[in-house]
Amino acid sequence: MKTVPKRVLVTGGAGFLGSHLCERLLDRGDDVLCVDNFYTGMRHNVAHLLDHPNFELMRHDITFPLYVEVDEIYNLACPASPIHYQRDPVQTTKTSVIGAINVLGLAKRVKAKVLQASTSEVYGDPTVHPQTEDYWGNVNTTGIRACYDEGKRCAETLFFDYLRQHRLRIKVARIFNTYGPRMHPNDGRVVSNFVLSALRGEDLTLYGDGSQTRSFCFVDDLVDGLMKLMDSEDSVTGPVNLGNPREMTVRELAETVTELVGGKNGISYHPLPQDDPMQRQPNIGKAKQLLGWEPRVDLRTGLEKTIAYFRDFA
Ligand code: NAD
Ligand code: UDP
Ligand code: UDP
Repeated sequence: MKTVPKRVLVTGGAGFLGSHLCERLLDRGDDVLCVDNFYTGMRHNVAHLLDHPNFELMRHDITFPLYVEVDEIYNLACPASPIHYQRDPVQTTKTSVIGAINVLGLAKRVKAKVLQASTSEVYGDPTVHPQTEDYWGNVNTTGIRACYDEGKRCAETLFFDYLRQHRLRIKVARIFNTYGPRMHPNDGRVVSNFVLSALRGEDLTLYGDGSQTRSFCFVDDLVDGLMKLMDSEDSVTGPVNLGNPREMTVRELAETVTELVGGKNGISYHPLPQDDPMQRQPNIGKAKQLLGWEPRVDLRTGLEKTIAYFRDFA
């Protein structure tokens, strides 16, 4: 029996995570509508998909209504790196909040299942470690990261209110630091900064003393988690943490990147940005139990693939 392909909308589909997700959905036979305003995303990220018969790319800003017919929606639209989301903080909040309302309104009209790309930033500078989904977070509402953190928190609220009020089928993923090919080369995130500096033979820029921790997940694992969450039973709404629990200091990351690139880079020290969280590590017990998901790619393998990608930019 011939099955009808699912029509899937990916907002932010020309970005780092979105482009990998579009690729994987096409691979399994879905019809993909990629919507993006190219604020941080690039046509280049999806150029290889443009000739695919099941792929469509639409320039659109999700702070404006969108009328399309789809079965599933992955809402990824939102700049993710601090320098991008802080460049136009009002637009960042609008994208998260008004964008969520539009996406939820659309899902309600067409009865689509809808997944929100939330973030570990909803935990702010956490006082609970590692972070479990029932931790409510520690966010400075007036700080420079708040446009992103509070925007994403409000989006989560909207998702759960549309569930309660309109019985929508929702999924909320709290994504932790993710890296890999197609990260924006100038977005200032630690992995892209370190890899590019190492490839250029420049000093690696360490903010603070490098003792702050993060846990880095390779993009293929993360996309796998998002798809598993979307495909899970309707009772699984989340929020579910998705990330790699292997925690390390930022200094340790600098040393690993230097070693893998094989250079002799030094380190230059810079002030720690305001509200920079000191520790971050996901507890992924819920994702393991509910989705049967856990990351498979170890840091060195993932970094090697990322380094290979960034050689063209160095
Ligand atoms: P990205 O910046 O590469 O992708 C975001 C995409 O959204 C870009 O293509 C951008 O042009 C698009 N966009 C921004 N505002 C838009 C708007 N108003 N209308 C339409 N499109 C818009 O970032 P990413 O790393 O791929 O992140 C994707 C999603 O995952 C984001 O929602 C982000 O908050 C979330 N997330 C990412 C990480 C990570 O480590 N990469 C961690 C936590 C959460
Ligand atoms: N919306 C959209 N596409 C649709 C349906 C709705 O973009 O197919 C937007 C529209 O801007 C609306 C918002 O989603 O204001 C919320 O929709 P909802 O039906 O929840 O509320 P409304 O504001 O229409 O009462
Ligand atoms: N960082 C750093 N050097 C850089 C970029 C970032 O030391 O060139 C630090 C940053 O201060 C933070 C960590 O690395 O402590 C992760 O930063 P990123 O912007 O990648 O992600 P986030 O802070 O959102 O987790």
